[in-house]
Formats: sequence, structure tokens, C-alpha cells
Amino acid sequence: MVAEKYNKLEPELKKELRTIAQQIVTPGRGILAADESTTTIGKRLQDINVENTEENRRAYRQLLFTTAKDVIGQHISGVILFHETLYQKADDNTPFVELLKQRNIIPGIKVDKGVVPLFGTNNECTTQGLDDLQTRCIQYKKDGCHFAKWRCVLKITKDTPSKLAIMENANVLARYASICQSARIVPIVEPEILPDGDHDLARCQQVTEEVLAAVYKALSDHHVYLEGTLLKPNMVTPGQSYPTRATPQEIGAATVTALLRTVPPAVPGITFLSGGQSEEEASINLDAINKYPAKKPWALTFSYGRALQASVLRAWQGKIDKVAAGQEELLKRAKANAAACQGKYIAGSISSKAADISLYVKAHAY
Ligand code: 13P
Repeated sequence: MVAEKYNKLEPELKKELRTIAQQIVTPGRGILAADESTTTIGKRLQDINVENTEENRRAYRQLLFTTAKDVIGQHISGVILFHETLYQKADDNTPFVELLKQRNIIPGIKVDKGVVPLFGTNNECTTQGLDDLQTRCIQYKKDGCHFAKWRCVLKITKDTPSKLAIMENANVLARYASICQSARIVPIVEPEILPDGDHDLARCQQVTEEVLAAVYKALSDHHVYLEGTLLKPNMVTPGQSYPTRATPQEIGAATVTALLRTVPPAVPGITFLSGGQSEEEASINLDAINKYPAKKPWALTFSYGRALQASVLRAWQGKIDKVAAGQEELLKRAKANAAACQGKYIAGSISSKAADISLYVKAHAY
């Protein structure tokens, strides 16, 4: 095979991408995923009887982004935004992006346009949004975003994920990652294997290995610069309807083993999604992953949506006089996960309003 000589990343671009990725996974820090689409945030607001209006969405995100200036950035290194949120401002007209920068938090953006069915499969899907991605990425970079997220979804049943779904999703993730890097944006590659199903831990591990192996083959084929990427995977757990739960130690062992077999050491960090685990479970499992005794070449941290926000929403309830209470909950979970990503979390040591409530949503869309 002839070595390909064209369009290689310039050393300066590589350095920029590598630096951003490394900053996001500095020890003791992780990501707040606040990129819920309008429909998804609507469901969260409905749970606390708040109407899904642009103003209420803005008020809620303002609560998140005005949390204690000198503290939140110690635990949160990046926030993933939704398009609408990127252009919103606080009551005093400060752009949200500015609030994040003041807190030493890097703004990121969700760039996928959601999942669509893969025709002729057993209810499997792919993710759309490639067509105008380059143009959008160039604009987002100008508007202050330095990393992006694209979520693909795979499902475990008796006969899925199919080879087609694995191949298609790996390829679309690689194409997305390549486009992001060309626009100086670090791609977070998210092949989420849903927790739905009655499969055991071993089956989840086997599927996770197969999916990640395909993803890294595709990233390699697309000349993606791994040092300037992050991976956002599911933890390896038994399915939601499997009769017995796995211990955090079993989850830690299965997750790290799957990652060691498939994710190259060139990748600077792995930022897990919480996938419907309760806030406390997500902290305990992340801690167990970090405590698992193995030589782990990447940072292992969090990029949680539900597991960082459930208590915040419950404390806030849409009330102006409860903003501080909501922010206090965010700080608590951020601190818990900052400890967990260093293997220093003591289970139950941080009590939150919704800590033990399951956040599982069947066939979750984001
Ligand atoms: P959860 O942590 O709620 O699973 O969401 C993270 C995310 O960004 C999914 O795409």
C-alpha cells in the first residue's frame, strides 16, 4: 500500500488539539454534559413542573454556569453545550461562554443531529449531522468552543448489535472526528451501548470490546490524530433487567479490561457517560474503575449529564430563591466525581438530594 501523503495534520494543529484534550482530563477534573436537546431538557423540566420555554432553559443553564467562580472549575474542566445555550446570556448580559471561561472551564458543543433508524435492521440506528458539519465546526470554534460531542447508540439484544450497526456507527464517528480536527476542535467520540436488556456483565463486556475495536480501526483508517481526541464510552454493566446487580469492583474490572484491550494508549482520556446510573452509583463505579489495579495509560474521568444534574433540578424547582441550593448540589456531585476520578471517593460521604434515585430512561435519547 502506498503511504498517503496528503492532508496530514500540521504540527501546530496537533499541538493545539493535544493541549485541549489534555486540559480536559487534568487530574481531578471532568465534564458536565449540559447538552440536552430542547425535547430532552423539556422532560427534565417537566419532572419539576417547570414549563419548557427558552427563558426557563436559559434560567436553568444560568444556574449551572454561575456556580461558585473559584470552586467549580477545580472539578469541572469542560461543559458540553447545546446550540441554543451557546448563544445565551446571563441576566447581566454576560455570554454563557464568558461565564465558563471565567471559571477556567472549556466550552464544548454537541454537533450531532440525533439518531435515525438503520433500515432493514432490528430497530438499530445511526447518527446524522455530517452534511454541514465542517461549516458548523468552523463557526463554533470562532464562537469559543474547543471540543465537540457526537453520540452514536448501539443496542444489545439476542441478535444485536449487528455487524452493519457496528461498522456504520464506527465509520460515522470517525468521519465526524476527522471533520472536527480539521476545524481545530477536539472530538469526543461517543459510541454508547445502551444499558437496556437482560444481558449479563460478560455479554456487555464482549459487545463493548467489539464496538470499541471497530471504532479505533475506523479512526485509524480516517487518519484521526488520537492524541487530540477523547473517548466517551458506557461503563461495562449488566443490562437493566438482568436479575442481579454487579458490584462496583466487578464493573471496574470488566470496564478497565475492555478498555485495555481496545483503546490505544495514545488517547489521553476516557470520559464516561452515566447512562442512567444514580448519582451515587456513577460516583462509586467511577471510583472502582480508578481503583482497579492495572496499568491504565489514560485518564479515567466523567462526562455526566443526569448523574450531575438530578439533585440540582430537585433542589432548584424553578424557583429564584432556590438557585443557591441548586448550585450547592452541583458542587457536591462535582466534588464527589472529582474524588472518584482519582480513586479517592468514599461511598456515601457526600449526600445529595437525589443521590440514590435511578436515572434510567428506557431507550434513552439525548
Ligand atoms: P448521561 O450522563 O445522562 O448518560 O449523559 C451523558 C451524555 O452526554 C450522553 O450523550
